Amino acid sequence: MALEHVLHSHASDSQIVILSDSKSAIAALKKMRIGDAPPTNLIRIHQLLRVIQQQATKTVIQWVISHCGIPLNELVDKLAVRACQRENVNCSTTTYYEDCKGIIQDDQDSKWQHSFADCDGAGSWTRAVINHPLKMPWFKNRNDYDNRTISTINRILIGHGRTNSFLAQMKKRDLPTCDRCDLDEEQNMQHLLLRYRHTTSMLQQIFAKHSVSVPINPGTLTDLHRFLRECVNTGNMEPLKDVAETLSLLDVKL
Ligand SMILES: [Zn+2]
Repeated sequence: MALEHVLHSHASDSQIVILSDSKSAIAALKKMRIGDAPPTNLIRIHQLLRVIQQQATKTVIQWVISHCGIPLNELVDKLAVRACQRENVNCSTTTYYEDCKGIIQDDQDSKWQHSFADCDGAGSWTRAVINHPLKMPWFKNRNDYDNRTISTINRILIGHGRTNSFLAQMKKRDLPTCDRCDLDEEQNMQHLLLRYRHTTSMLQQIFAKHSVSVPINPGTLTDLHRFLRECVNTGNMEPLKDVAETLSLLDVKL
């Protein structure tokens, strides 16, 4: 199409640059030598190039990254997809790795995401909260949050912090039970956020402030995970920042 456009819409002996995002097409053209019989799928291109050459038009074909916002490149991409859907694609066409890189990447990402979601055992809290393990971490470029807030939020997101349960596992404490309340329960993240009454009442205020519709009292772990997941997915970490600050006020150091 670009070559036909050059022939019909540009004066001979002009200088033309054709932008293409297909490394395979450019490589196939590069391989062609004068006198060689061109491959069947390149015959038309070969004919057009010869006519253009006879007109003394200087043509350069330049590779560009696909989908980088060049309007006519985007249009050609759409037309190529339509052509593939309507016509038979030649099976002998060589496709270079670079052209398939995006497809391979998407396929691998999807496999990784599924195996992450399907596995069980340790890490169930994180899996319930984070659906996209390959997504850029939320704290990337968040210079407005200090390191302590970021690490507290991350510990809430993975359900693993410096609780009595953890300290007992690390042999830093004899019992995993909570010493902040008289419920006589293991003090883990779930207990601190959903059972410890000082935290639950402050969480309710935070949710009201941010219009979060999570029934936290008596909250369930599923609801808590849904709230955390929404924060991660929408990128709105302000409610969690408030949770981190609340924990700090209550002297709960995760
Ligand atoms: Zn407690």
